[in-house]
Amino acid sequence: MSKVKYYYDPDTLSYRKIELKKSRRYRNIFLFILGSALFGFLGLIFLLNTNILNTPRELSLSRELKNYELRFQLLNKKMEQIEQVLANIEDRDNNIYRLYFEANPIPEEQRRAGFGGVNRYKSLEGFNNSEMIIATTRRLDVIQKQMVIQSRSLDEITKLAEDKEKLLAAIPAIQPVKNEDLTRMASGYGWRSDPFTKARKMHWGMDFTAPKGVPIYATGDGMVSRADNNASGYGKHIRIDHGYGYMSLYAHLSNYNVKRGQKVKRGDLIGFIGSTGRSEAPHLHYEVWKDEERINPINFYYGSLTAEEFENMLKYANQENQSLD
Ligand SMILES: [Zn+2]
Repeated sequence: MSKVKYYYDPDTLSYRKIELKKSRRYRNIFLFILGSALFGFLGLIFLLNTNILNTPRELSLSRELKNYELRFQLLNKKMEQIEQVLANIEDRDNNIYRLYFEANPIPEEQRRAGFGGVNRYKSLEGFNNSEMIIATTRRLDVIQKQMVIQSRSLDEITKLAEDKEKLLAAIPAIQPVKNEDLTRMASGYGWRSDPFTKARKMHWGMDFTAPKGVPIYATGDGMVSRADNNASGYGKHIRIDHGYGYMSLYAHLSNYNVKRGQKVKRGDLIGFIGSTGRSEAPHLHYEVWKDEERINPINFYYGSLTAEEFENMLKYANQENQSLD
């Protein structure tokens, strides 16, 4: 209730009530309401900007948000660990596996490539925590892409390993006659004097001296492409086609244990020592061919011989003596 104001009227010598004009009264009331409303409005804005006015629901939502943020941080930590493990796998992939199987390393840019073109994260924009969510999503996307590239690389390596295994089984890599059966390694690959003419000429294989009938073994997996006496000088001989450009040849046999077209494994008994063809005494003349050229068979014996045996064979093979042809 508003105060009633009085004034002294000298004419009537008495106090009289002050009567406000009606319009003025309304104006005051209006100003009062406007002021209150303004003050209330400013107060509300102030309260909303502080946490004083949070309802229980708002408080629980805000706690939940804090929890999400914490979870996102933990997820990012885990992703960091995954990235480290992946980097380690990629390093081994490039520098061991792919190197070993003679595949080109996958360049870093290709493994870490981002995603060009459209903005994939448009739908995640415009929120308070957009930055965090976009960064995490992008990180996961890159990891996912890295995994796909790594997985493909390992598929490729698996294929190469299978091929390599076949190749390793195919190339002529053992001695065709057992050491205990050898009388001696008569002559190696290189310039030797011809047993018949005594002239120096190239000896294209290795001669293994052993008594007639001693078993001869296939030196690698392959298919018998010839087993006949129709090549001049070689006498009864066997040729094994190993694939990958490799062929091995076994000459001067007394007998065959395989037929043309037969598939053989490394170590299979294929024939027997003899002295057929251009031969001075029972021995095996052994040749290795690569891409239609004869190469030195001695380069293929690693693994099947002890270090001492290999050294002995090297010594004999390098002696410039007379070959048995
Ligand atoms: Zn020979």
